[in-house]
Amino acid sequence: MVVGGGFAGLACTRKLAKSDDVRVTLIDKNNYHQFQPLLYQLATAELGTGDIATSLRQVFRGHANVDVKMSEVMVADPKTRTVTTQTGETYQGDVLVLAAGSSANFFDTQGAEKNSLPLYSLEEAQRLRSRVLSMFEDADRDPKVVDDGALNFVIIGGGATGTELAGALADMINLTMTREYTDLAVKRTRIYLIDHGHSLLAPFSAEAHDYAARTLRQKGVQLRLGESVKEIAPEYVVLSDGTRIPTRTAIWAGGLMAASLADHAGLPRGRGGRIEVQPDLTIEGFPGVYALGDFANVPDADGRALPQLASVAQQCGTWTANNILADIAGKPRTAFHYRDKGIMAMIGRDAAVAEVGRKRHELDGPIAFAAWLGVHALLMTGVREKIEAFIDWAWDYFSKTRPIQVLDRSDDNRINWDQGVPAEGSARSSPVKTAT
Ligand SMILES: Cc1cc2nc3c(=O)[nH]c(=O)nc-3n(C[C@H](O)[C@H](O)[C@H](O)COP(=O)(O)OP(=O)(O)OC[C@H]3O[C@@H](n4cnc5c(N)ncnc54)[C@H](O)[C@@H]3O)c2cc1C
Repeated sequence: MVVGGGFAGLACTRKLAKSDDVRVTLIDKNNYHQFQPLLYQLATAELGTGDIATSLRQVFRGHANVDVKMSEVMVADPKTRTVTTQTGETYQGDVLVLAAGSSANFFDTQGAEKNSLPLYSLEEAQRLRSRVLSMFEDADRDPKVVDDGALNFVIIGGGATGTELAGALADMINLTMTREYTDLAVKRTRIYLIDHGHSLLAPFSAEAHDYAARTLRQKGVQLRLGESVKEIAPEYVVLSDGTRIPTRTAIWAGGLMAASLADHAGLPRGRGGRIEVQPDLTIEGFPGVYALGDFANVPDADGRALPQLASVAQQCGTWTANNILADIAGKPRTAFHYRDKGIMAMIGRDAAVAEVGRKRHELDGPIAFAAWLGVHALLMTGVREKIEAFIDWAWDYFSKTRPIQVLDRSDDNRINWDQGVPAEGSARSSPVKTAT
């Protein structure tokens, strides 16, 4: 039984699918595998849904020993290795692999869960794209709504997700929107990137922090580092220094925790609510139960938890499959060993940082950008997705238009500007500072 068709669950199932000794049931709440590292490009209309999502059934077509089920697992019982789905079915296996990934962690920030737009799934990215595009359409029809924050985009979290999104959004506005919304003062658009730390891209080197901050400032992004967000309301965001930014687009890239299934699995949990696992990725006391990828605190050789990365998840998946096959062959399981291939982040057009190799060599600028494109294309699941993504990237790069600029109304909370009743203590009645 494998729960979750993300990087970890997919890698595990792919490896097991090659063995005639195993039957796998792979359950995911969606019928596709989503490529999370490119969600921000979906949100900024650079890539389309089909570029970053792959049908799980297509991946396992031709593998009679893999049964794909689309259903949300609500409860997992590690004692019996049984899972129960939202629609009431139960599935039981000799081995249970939990790889349900993560969801947004709002750290109890007032109003964040209700009023911000997280960027951790395909639906969330589509919804964000719809919101961004509708803000431009609304402001074009009625420029007065710009005063109410229609063109203020507030990104909370300066890690890879927030930094990459800020760069892509700035490019979209500077290169595309300025040419397409000729009646609108696009120059009044503001992108704010807020982080309570004093640098962007925390896991990278000091040089990369500076490069990322410099690049974003050049693109016009307003960095608010060393500030946290106190409140997110439907019409504004309040920072820790009391600044109120009017906005209808507060984007949450502020952190992750284990997916909600971890609340209903009866297993030991650690940082981020993630499942604690042993070096061989099984759970203490449950030799037939594994937890992998973002769903677990996967230890490195020194016992410290590895970061939540696609490469960690993929390697965990393959390692787990090898341990399952070792059990079947009567051989000993081995402790997971992560091969660190480096970290990368793209900061918009022609700008990226990469720290690769054991010594973490620094790359930045166009070379890092080219490396980023190559590595991400390699990581993508299907050949069709790779080709389509390259066509979209090339189209965007040379034409400076967004290939997927489609307002598909996946944002069902469309703004009704006429009913814009100021919330209690809003800008019009409160003495807080207002950002411009
Ligand atoms: C915006 C963003 C950008 C990122 N950029 C990078 C990057 O550049 N490089 C990098 O290495 N990593 C990056 N990451 C991290 C990387 O994507 C994750 O570490 C990786 O996806 C983890 O893989 P996983 O298999 O553990 O979880 P996921 O890929 O999240 O897969 C979990 C799967 O479980 C399914 N699922 C969840 N709950 C249930 C349930 N109850 N029942 C059934 N199915 C369920 C989900 O539908 C999903 O398919 C990024 C992450 C995000 C969100």
